[in-house]
Amino acid sequence: MSRIVLASSNPGKLAEFNTLFADSGFDVITQASLGVEDIEETGLTFVENALLKARHAAQVTGLPALADDSGLCVDHLHGAPGLYSARYSGGHGDSAANNAKLLRELSGVPAEQRGAFFICALVLLRHANDPAPVIAEGRWYGHVLDEARGHGGFGYDPLFLPQGQTGSAAELDPQLKNRLSHRGQALALLHERIAEVRG
Ligand code: IMP
Repeated sequence: MSRIVLASSNPGKLAEFNTLFADSGFDVITQASLGVEDIEETGLTFVENALLKARHAAQVTGLPALADDSGLCVDHLHGAPGLYSARYSGGHGDSAANNAKLLRELSGVPAEQRGAFFICALVLLRHANDPAPVIAEGRWYGHVLDEARGHGGFGYDPLFLPQGQTGSAAELDPQLKNRLSHRGQALALLHERIAEVRG
């Protein structure tokens, strides 16, 4: 079976990508399992960071590579936390501190000015010098609540009220979240694009 390297070590993402490629004869494996180290994400946009990560993984392994980059962009904060979503408060992946900072930054901002969206950029490179990567982006629109609601999901989910929903992303059924979310939309689009590219 042909292999694709995933420039992420997150087991949840590995499972999602393996489902996506299940019927096309590709086995998706993490870059960590091949000894590839994380690189610094120096891009200025999500898609640039996904490209940097995929190119690095393809360069080191000689395999086709997949990468994603995602985060939350808040209108009133000119797109912050954006690229720094995972480390908004300083420490990497400290969701409680990140959420507390977001609430502080939006303190006193009325509901109609709390618009935000999650974004996910996915990139598939056939090889390190591939000039025509397959790129898919998903956006999930909503609002930032003024207090946390729900205990499911991860990251900013308890503060995010998706458009058309009555509960936060942390209160949504996980399967519904996977279908509606920025990542779900980007995965579906990547699936379509791959089929187009293959003809
Ligand atoms: P990564 O690209 O998966 O590393 O995500 C970057 C950061 O964006 C995460 O650490 C979270 O803070 C935030 N994020 C991305 N997707 C989601 C989501 O679906 N729910 C909540 N937070 C998310």
